[in-house]
Amino acid sequence: APANFRYKRVLLKVSGEVLMGDQSFGVDMATVDTVAKAVAQVAAEGVEICLVIGGGNIFRGLSKAAAGMERAQADYMGMLATIMNALAMQSALEKIGVSTRVQSAIPMAAIAEPYIRRRALRHLEKGRVVIFAAGVGAPFFTTDSGAALRAAEMGCDALLKGTSVDGVYTADPKKDPTATRYETLTYQDVLAKDLRVMDASAIAMMRDTGIPIVVFSIREDDSLRRTLTGEGTFTVIK
Ligand code: UDP
Repeated sequence: APANFRYKRVLLKVSGEVLMGDQSFGVDMATVDTVAKAVAQVAAEGVEICLVIGGGNIFRGLSKAAAGMERAQADYMGMLATIMNALAMQSALEKIGVSTRVQSAIPMAAIAEPYIRRRALRHLEKGRVVIFAAGVGAPFFTTDSGAALRAAEMGCDALLKGTSVDGVYTADPKKDPTATRYETLTYQDVLAKDLRVMDASAIAMMRDTGIPIVVFSIREDDSLRRTLTGEGTFTVIK
């Protein structure tokens, strides 16, 4: 890994909710810019970084299925939402001089590369930030599963989950002042206690591949860098 950093190559999962900032819907470009800056900072220092972007700020399959739409159809709409977010993130990164590629699990030739594993690896080796869109490309999955899958395929040293809280707590720290943060957890703890860090299928995949999950707050400046150097506050699941 580059000097001072714990990991050489990482995958950062950013959920749609993070990108909407304080809005109740859609993409807040100021927030996207903040995330882009954090990514640019570590990329400039030599960390190879790829992103998986969620879509829940625009469309979530499950909730539309509950309202009567066929689940698979609703999930395809959700995947399209992740492509919009990926383009917003690409735009924010390119604006500050970071070379990027978007690869979509659902081919959409006019706006993104199709997902090709070896090509994505080559981009990372060249220092480009690769943004993976459309999750795994299949309904009944989520972008958490997409993040786990791509982290494994890219041979990442860690899967970083950027949230609005700086780790996993014993209770919701926004509601319970006595809640304490776990320094480390095992994959099995997370599954058995149903801690809802990520989908169970994503946790199971990281357990099977041995890639640690690092949960941290992406809302504070510098927190991505501080997480990667080990100075910040976060929870490691391993
Ligand atoms: N989705 C899917 N397959 C995937 C990834 C996403 O069907 O591999 C759909 C699903 O409907 C999901 C929506 O896309 O609700 C948005 O993704 P997600 O909920 O994971 O976004 P996030 O919670 O990270 O914002």
